[in-house]
Amino acid sequence: MEQGACAHISATRTVKHPKKLVCDECVKTGDDWVHLRTCQQCGTTRCCDDSPNRHASAHAHASGHPVIASAEPGERWLYCYPDDAFAEY
Ligand SMILES: [Zn+2]
Ligand SMILES: [Zn+2]
Ligand SMILES: [Zn+2]
Repeated sequence: MEQGACAHISATRTVKHPKKLVCDECVKTGDDWVHLRTCQQCGTTRCCDDSPNRHASAHAHASGHPVIASAEPGERWLYCYPDDAFAEY
């Protein structure tokens, strides 16, 4: 991973990709989302901060899982919530 990214991102050796292109929480409630992010700790996929429910950051804060990857096709980047760090891969 890129230099300058945080220890969490540097420790991410293999990027986890979404199993399905849906927000795991929004599908339960029938809500909409804007973009999808995949948790690099547990591999679950949730919606971004532009989405009404912001499930990805809620999950990061509740679970302590720091790093997400964009689940959008063609986007190749990681983001760490506690460090506000970003890296392309
Ligand atoms: Zn970090
Ligand atoms: Zn959601
Ligand atoms: Zn997680």
